[in-house]
Amino acid sequence: MTDINVNRGTFDEVMVPVFAPASFVPDRGRGSRVWDTEGRDYVDFAGGIAVTALGHGHPELLKVLHEQGDKLWHIGNGYTNEPVLRLAKRLTDLTFADRAFFANSGAEANEAALKLARRYAIDKFGPEKIEIISFTQSFHGRTFFTVSVGGQPKYAEGFGPQPQGIRHLPYNDLAQALDAISDKTCAVIVEPVQGEGGVLPADPAFLKGLREACDKHGALLIFDEVQTGVGRTGTLYAYMQYGVTPDILTTAKALGNGFPIGAMLTTDAIAQHFKVGVHGTTYGGNPLGASIAEKVVELISDPKLLEGVSVRGAAIRAHLERINERFGMFREVRGRGLLIGAELADAYKDRAKDVLNAAAANGVIMLIAGPNVIRFAPSLIMPMADLDEGFARIEKAIEQVAGAAAVAR
Ligand SMILES: *Cc1c(COP(=O)(O)O)cnc(C)c1O
Repeated sequence: MTDINVNRGTFDEVMVPVFAPASFVPDRGRGSRVWDTEGRDYVDFAGGIAVTALGHGHPELLKVLHEQGDKLWHIGNGYTNEPVLRLAKRLTDLTFADRAFFANSGAEANEAALKLARRYAIDKFGPEKIEIISFTQSFHGRTFFTVSVGGQPKYAEGFGPQPQGIRHLPYNDLAQALDAISDKTCAVIVEPVQGEGGVLPADPAFLKGLREACDKHGALLIFDEVQTGVGRTGTLYAYMQYGVTPDILTTAKALGNGFPIGAMLTTDAIAQHFKVGVHGTTYGGNPLGASIAEKVVELISDPKLLEGVSVRGAAIRAHLERINERFGMFREVRGRGLLIGAELADAYKDRAKDVLNAAAANGVIMLIAGPNVIRFAPSLIMPMADLDEGFARIEKAIEQVAGAAAVAR
């Protein structure tokens, strides 16, 4: 260790204040357990925001990290490397895609997807075909292009002129989408399950209808699977269970289990519109991240592991139903696989943060998705004993919130 003393208070002194982190400071993790700097333990239902899909400290990932860490971390894209080629082969073998571009985050994968869609449409159809259609409440990252495309205006406002040619429509409203998609449409970008927007699954008919309209008008269909991807919903990618194939798919979050990596996957014909020099990155596709992601994809594409996602998802829903019978706290529980949202009933409206804080005080890490939805995105291999122990703690937390609500009434 060093002689620099820090604690949660240090955050408020030295960090750019765009976050408001919890009052405790996590220090160590194993599987679905995390310990803070005081040695208190937490059951982890957040997975670092749908990232640590194989839990903390997975032995096979540690092995790859150490082995590749000993060999080569970074070389730059003037050279290729075997780990990135193996990762691209694996991803293209397992999906609709023929080609992969690697970046370091979800936002960068989406930035690449949107730029590629624009380039493709302008090359093929001319400069008028630039309209990007997106949906309200959607989240696609924090670069200026991706916040402008995202459906939460508060993230894009206050930074001056935004990229143009972007339209936002209501999610799951097929009639409005069919009305809007035209020969001017360059691309439609959609999350198969809106994650940050409140854990809202798309209606299958909505995605099918978008696919047909895109085909009719020569527009590209982009699935942002940054949160739903890499096994989260019970299939390797969510498009597989919807039976709707996109033209471009973006993936990040769980892809590196915490090592930052993102990817854009697409077909051969579309990929050809990104010629040498048209787009790029310094770190994207580095051998260290690629070797870890290759192992993640190998482990998560195992059908047995994916079956376990449904089992755990069902167990979480059963716990939530049982708790709801006691407290009537949830209006609706929804999601797919291990991306689950519990929307609060009117009596608890907009109090998701209170539930989150009470859970933390009882030794549970979880997520919210907006002010009114509690979100679960744990490890896909969370031990059932941890899941049950976690819900015993959550129940205590909810007892406290409900008790306080009863007193307040
Ligand atoms: C998290 C997320 C992003 C942004 O990913 P970053 O790695 O934070 O840039 C984009 N799209 C979706 C659907 C996400 O959930």
